Amino acid sequence: MISKRQLCLSLTFLLFLSCNTNPFTGKKTLALVPNSQIFPMAFQQYDEFLSQSNVVKGTAEARMVTNVGQKIAAAAERYLTAQGYAGYLKDYAWEYNLVNDETVNAWCMPGGKIVFYTGILPITQGEVGIATVMGHEVAHALANHGQQRMSASQLQALGAVAGNVALSNDPENVEIFNQAYGIGSQVGVMLPFSRSHESEADKIGLYLMAIAGYEPMEAVQLWERMKSNKNGEAPPEFLSTHPSDDTRISNIQGWAPEAKAEARKFGVTQFKTQ
Ligand SMILES: [Zn+2]
Repeated sequence: MISKRQLCLSLTFLLFLSCNTNPFTGKKTLALVPNSQIFPMAFQQYDEFLSQSNVVKGTAEARMVTNVGQKIAAAAERYLTAQGYAGYLKDYAWEYNLVNDETVNAWCMPGGKIVFYTGILPITQGEVGIATVMGHEVAHALANHGQQRMSASQLQALGAVAGNVALSNDPENVEIFNQAYGIGSQVGVMLPFSRSHESEADKIGLYLMAIAGYEPMEAVQLWERMKSNKNGEAPPEFLSTHPSDDTRISNIQGWAPEAKAEARKFGVTQFKTQ
């Protein structure tokens, strides 16, 4: 029988072991569940989701989502390499899909598995709008926000982590995973991230879009359009988890010049505005 003291000790040890410094945020973050366990599970859930969805192939819009996604991913690689983190994304298996669904949403699962719903396209409008949302969602994944949320809920739910957090196909773990990422049967019903995670994703997203050659100040237009899209009955999914308020917009206005300055270090001098 394990004593309370032993449990505390092993838990402390585990927490100590699992703190990583995130290269995007510079913060020590709790990673109770390593990527080597999360990614295979995310990839499986993603494939399952696609097999049950109406994936749009071969249209100009689908191609645009893929092109923008590739540019944002390349920007992330360049940025990380410059920061001394070459190889940080080696286990990522980037994939970009457009799904025919009126839900106003987009998301990026751990390991770079991205979905845009056609319902968000009237708001993103063109390439730069897609880049804004893509940069933001990819930023959540790169900053391990979902993982941090999962670690917290996992601690709560499991209480004691007996030195072995095997996700595998244990239904309880699958449930926790789905709660954390809002995927599987709950796709599109994403739990909101905290305000500080939203701000981080906004800032990192602006850097990525600027390095990818998109005008970061254009992000303001996107969030304004999100805001004015609210005047329906129910707010769109994306808006319910991403309230577009004046603070968000003024933060973006402040960070956009920094993002462009960063992009110039990579030789980017032209920024697309549409
Ligand atoms: Zn977000």
